[in-house]
Amino acid sequence: MSSADTYFKNIGKGFWTVLLGMKVTMRHLFTPAVTIQYPDARMPIPERGRNRLYVNMDDCIGCNQCGMACPVGCITIETAKSLPTEDLGVTSTGQKKRLWVTQFDIDFAKCCYCGLCVPPCPTECIYMTDVFEFSEYDRDKLNYSFITLTPEEAAQKTEQAKAAEKEAAAKKAAAAAAAAAQKAAQPQNVTPSQNVTQPPAQSIPPAAPRPAPAVAPAPQPAVKPEIAGAEAGQAPSVTAEPQGGQKVSSPESVYPPKPQEQATRAPQELKPNDNPKGSAD
Ligand code: SF4
Ligand code: SF4
Repeated sequence: MSSADTYFKNIGKGFWTVLLGMKVTMRHLFTPAVTIQYPDARMPIPERGRNRLYVNMDDCIGCNQCGMACPVGCITIETAKSLPTEDLGVTSTGQKKRLWVTQFDIDFAKCCYCGLCVPPCPTECIYMTDVFEFSEYDRDKLNYSFITLTPEEAAQKTEQAKAAEKEAAAKKAAAAAAAAAQKAAQPQNVTPSQNVTQPPAQSIPPAAPRPAPAVAPAPQPAVKPEIAGAEAGQAPSVTAEPQGGQKVSSPESVYPPKPQEQATRAPQELKPNDNPKGSAD
């Protein structure tokens, strides 16, 4: 190929490359634009997007559930008890309001927009909004206060609650002192054990005195054996005289005869004239 041919071939290749690039440009030239002209135009915010919080103080009962759920501690709530004569009304969910909310601050400079403070609210009065444009040059301006009371009213409600609390404490102390005095004035013969409720004790009759056992004194006979006829070989006749005055005339009852004595005594009791076989002799 000559040098002239190469020259014209490169020129055509360049034109073709330009046409390919212009093809992509021409295709996007007639498609609709996707750029949003913020702030004149805005993209729609997702329905569950987490942005700046808002608190509807008409429904807030000052329970501090949201403050306890906050992981960074950017919610500060102060309340004051209402007087019995004050009626704070009810929330839209029907709960009676009993506390004055004297401070409800959310520091959005600390908030991480986690949304953990929203679910615990019993009246659903704290929620996320679609407001995300609240940048400030001063960080202190990101601390939002939501209370509806003026600073003077909040201070007055706080003082009023403190005075009522002090009065209630004084009344309680006086009642306790009166009760203690009344207790001290009671007769002291009541032992603590009697204050305890116990079942009535059963009346157990005293045990009847046991009769003394009629133990007759053991006879201690002053035995004066009178052995009569011992020399004559007869059986001794023992006369015992016990101390009770009774006479025991049976010698066996005093001195029971021993077996060998019985054997030797029997023939002695026989008189020479006694014949056990009758008059055979
Ligand atoms: S969104 Fe999270 S960080 Fe912000 S106030 Fe609620 S709980 Fe606290
Ligand atoms: S949880 Fe709800 S009602 Fe309770 S203090 Fe927070 S915003 Fe108020």
